[in-house]
Amino acid sequence: MHTIVALIVFAIGLSATLYYWRNLRQSVDTDMHAAYVHQVQSITSGMNARMQLYQNFLRGSAGLFAIHNNLTQDEWEKYHAPYDISHNYPDIEGIGVGRYLSAADVPAYLQRRADQGSPNFTIVPQGDRPVYVPVTFSAQYGGNNDPLGYDGYTDSIRHAAMDQAVNTGQLTMSGQIMAANARPARPSFMLYLPVYKNDQPSTTAAERWSSLLGFAYVEVDTAAFENTVLNDNQSSYISLRIEDPSTGGHVVYESSNFAHIQAMRGARVQTSNATFYGHGLRMTFAGSPELIALRERQLPEQALWRGLVTCVFFAGLVWYLITDRERKYARQKREEVQTAKDDLLSLASHQLRTPATVVKQYVGMLLQGYAGKLSGQQIDMLNNAYESNERQLDIINELLYVARLDAGRITLHVRKLDVAELLEDVAHDYLPAVQERRQTLTTKGTSRQLQIEADPHYLRMTLDNLVSNAVKYTPEDGSITVEIHRALNEVLIRVRDNGVGIDPVLQENIFEKFTRVENELSTDVNGSGVGLYLTRQIVELHGGSITVKSSSGKGSTFTIRLPVHQVKTDPSLLEPHQS
Ligand code: ADP
Repeated sequence: MHTIVALIVFAIGLSATLYYWRNLRQSVDTDMHAAYVHQVQSITSGMNARMQLYQNFLRGSAGLFAIHNNLTQDEWEKYHAPYDISHNYPDIEGIGVGRYLSAADVPAYLQRRADQGSPNFTIVPQGDRPVYVPVTFSAQYGGNNDPLGYDGYTDSIRHAAMDQAVNTGQLTMSGQIMAANARPARPSFMLYLPVYKNDQPSTTAAERWSSLLGFAYVEVDTAAFENTVLNDNQSSYISLRIEDPSTGGHVVYESSNFAHIQAMRGARVQTSNATFYGHGLRMTFAGSPELIALRERQLPEQALWRGLVTCVFFAGLVWYLITDRERKYARQKREEVQTAKDDLLSLASHQLRTPATVVKQYVGMLLQGYAGKLSGQQIDMLNNAYESNERQLDIINELLYVARLDAGRITLHVRKLDVAELLEDVAHDYLPAVQERRQTLTTKGTSRQLQIEADPHYLRMTLDNLVSNAVKYTPEDGSITVEIHRALNEVLIRVRDNGVGIDPVLQENIFEKFTRVENELSTDVNGSGVGLYLTRQIVELHGGSITVKSSSGKGSTFTIRLPVHQVKTDPSLLEPHQS
C-alpha cells in the first residue's frame, strides 16, 4: 500500500517535472531558433549590402567608360585610386571593363589600343569567333584576376552571366570562376553591369543587345568576400557553406569552423536557396548551440535533475512516513495482543491453580485414609488421579512462571551456592526415571565444590528442565552425561544425551514460548513447550547464556554458561535472599 502511494506521488511529481522540462526545452529551442534566424538574416543581408556597394562602384566605372571615348588604362586606374580598394575592400581583385565586339570590329579595336600606347595588345584566347569581349581596362588589386585582353566571353560561366545581364538589364552575379592569369587561382565571382552606348534606347533586351558597348565588372575573391561578411557579423557561433548549383553543386565557400560547428551536439544546420543578383546559391548555415547562453541551455536539464531528485525525495519521505506509521501501528497492535495474552495467561493460571491444589489436597487426604479404608483398586485409581493432578499443577506452575517473567515480575534471590552439589542433586532426583528407561546417567566434575552467586530455586528449575528433557528425548538404553567445569570467570554446565536430536533448522525455535518440536518420542512424553523458554530467560536473568548443539538422530548437547559473580547492575534483579 505504502509503495503504491509513494509511486503515485513519484508519478505525479515526475509528470510535473517532465511537463516543466518539455516547456523549458521548447522555450530554449525557440530562443535558439530566433538567434539562428537573426544570424542567418544578418549574414544574408550583409552579402546583399556588400554587393550593392560594388554595384554603386560599377555604375560610376560604367559611366566613365560610356562617356569617355579616348579613355586610357592609366586614366582608368587613376579614376579608381581614391577608393583605396586594396585597403578598404580586400576581397576585390579587380575592377575592369570588357568591350563587346563583333568579329568585324576587332581590327579597328586593336588599332585603337595601339594608338593609345598598347601596340602589343592581343585578344586571348586567339581564334575566330563572332563575338569578343576582351578586358579593355582593368584596375587590379590582387593576383587573382583576368588580364588585359582576356576574352571572358570564351568562358561558359562568364558568357552565361554576361548574356543574362543584357537579357535582364540588371547587374548579374556569375557562377564560380577561376581568374584567367592566376596560378593557382582561387574561386571568385564576377558582378557584370552592362554598359550601353549613350543616347540609345535600352528598354527591351533587343535594344540592349544592339546598343551594348561592353560590361563593367568587379571581380571578387569568394573566400575573402564571405569572410569579410562573416567577420562584420561578429559571431563565431555561426558558419556558412555555399554551393553553386550552376556548376553542379560545387562548394564555393566553406567557413573554417563549419565542419566543427556542424558536428556539435545540438547544432542547428539548415540549407536554403538564395538568389544574389540573378544567381542562385545553396547556402547552408550551421549555428552552434552557443548562440544562446550556456546558463539558458542548461536550464531544462537542470530542471529535470532537480525535479527528479525532488520526486525521489518526496516519494521516499511519503513512503517512510507511511511505513513508519504502519510499523508503529503494528507494534502497538502486537503489544496490545501480547498484553491481552499475558493477562489471559496470568488469569487462567491463577484461576486454575487453586482448584487443582484443592483436588491435590482431597486426593491426598483420601489416600491417607481420612475417609476410611480403601480397597487396592481404589488406591490405584487415586494414585493415577494424584499423578495426573501433579502434572497439571506442574504445567500450571510453568504457565505462572511464564506469566510472571513476561510481566517482569520474577525476582532473583541471589546467594552463594555450590552449583556442583546442586547439579549432583538434580541428577540424583532423576535416577529412578533413568533406571526405569534402562538409561545411564553419568555426572562429571561434581565431586569438587564450585561456588557461584545464583538463585538456587530458579537455577535448579533450569537444570531440572535440561536433565528432564534429556531423559524424555533419549530412547531406552541411551546414555546421558551431566558435567560441570570452571572456566575463567564462569561456570560451564553441559547436559549431553545420545537421543533423538533436533533438526538444526528448528534449533533456534525451541527457546521460543510454547514451542514443541515433533520428534519420534514427543508423542509419548508430556510437555508444554515452555521449559526451554523459561530456562533461557532465567539463565539470561543471571547474566549467562544457553546454547545447543544437536543433529537429528545423533543426540543433543545443551551448554549453560553462568558468571561466577553476579554483576549488580539492576538491584531489582538481584535482591538478597530472604528465607
Ligand atoms: P517440552 O515441554 O516440549 O519439552 P521444551 O521447551 O522443554 O518443551 O522443549 C522444546 C522442544 O525442544 C521439545 O518439544 C523437543 O522437541 C525439543 N527438545 C528439548 N530438549 C531436547 C533434547 N534433549 N533432545 C531432543 N529434543 C529436545
